[in-house]
Amino acid sequence: MGYKKIRKDQLNTFLRELRKDYAVVLPSRSGGQVAFSTWGGENTDFLDWYKNTVIPPKALFFPPVEEMFRFRKGEDGYAIEELMPDRGQQIVFGIRPCDSRALKIIDMLFADTYRDPYYLRRRENSLLIGLGCNEPCDTCFCASMDISPGQSEDVDILCTDVSDSLLIEPISERGNNLLSRMSGLSGAGSEEESKAKELRKSAKERIAREINLSGLQEKMRSNFENRGYWEKVSKKCMACGICTYVCPTCHCFDINDENRKKEGKRVRSWDSCKFPLFTRMPMENPRHEKWRRMRQRYHHKFEYYPMNFGAIACTGCGRCIRECPVNVDVTEIIGGI
Ligand code: SF4
Ligand code: SF4
Repeated sequence: MGYKKIRKDQLNTFLRELRKDYAVVLPSRSGGQVAFSTWGGENTDFLDWYKNTVIPPKALFFPPVEEMFRFRKGEDGYAIEELMPDRGQQIVFGIRPCDSRALKIIDMLFADTYRDPYYLRRRENSLLIGLGCNEPCDTCFCASMDISPGQSEDVDILCTDVSDSLLIEPISERGNNLLSRMSGLSGAGSEEESKAKELRKSAKERIAREINLSGLQEKMRSNFENRGYWEKVSKKCMACGICTYVCPTCHCFDINDENRKKEGKRVRSWDSCKFPLFTRMPMENPRHEKWRRMRQRYHHKFEYYPMNFGAIACTGCGRCIRECPVNVDVTEIIGGI
């Protein structure tokens, strides 16, 4: 199937049609933050103001807090009640190219030796409709991470905002099948396709930040014991954990049992390597100093993850730079190694 298009003032109708079979989630403002949430059929004005969400879409698949199962002690031992996510199908509309790549990156971990059924079930039941970035933020450096702001191979369908219309490109077979069932779409012409090409080129050219990845892993290994460097770059960090919570690839979690008498539940919640208790064990904490935790965060993303999975666990989305209250900047830290 070739490119399609839809007028932006018809998007509401398109989404309503999708909503017959899927829960549609899209960017919305809630509680002063931009995050993905279930679309209730209201207007679609997010196209006018949306750059990217603060809370990354990983939260749709790996929620900040999740009950895994409940248990109850009886005469014959424990009875377990499984709490798997329901099998409802969802469409994530408007995901940016950096964030769809981030999901590919964390898929590698969640589908590794220990397969995570909670995350994977949600991923299997979701279709991603991406929205290319025509105007990158000044904190973005996705181009250094081999991601194009205007294009994505990591979604099922990709949309490009070409003024009055969205150009719609099927990427995967699932995306193709979905589009072939939709009404209200018309064939796009060469005018829209050229416009999209121009917008993609211009968006890429306007990305001002970069990270030089050449020989980075060797440099990181030689810098590992440079305590002075890590103390200097971690000095102003307040260990608030915001950078890890807003990061679309950070995936550390903690598991706790909450008991009351003979029953309880097992809950997992996002953890952060920036927190002092992150690696605390009964006898010791190997990372009780802040600089060690700062070093862990960057080595994990730029050295250990590539060693384990062949991919850097950073997409250059720039959220950690935008949201850090004291302006800690990953591009400066990596650039200074
Ligand atoms: S957001 Fe900034 S201050 Fe907070 S933990 Fe991250 S680097 Fe430190
Ligand atoms: S480390 Fe920062 S720039 Fe990289 S993916 Fe995470 S939030 Fe985005």
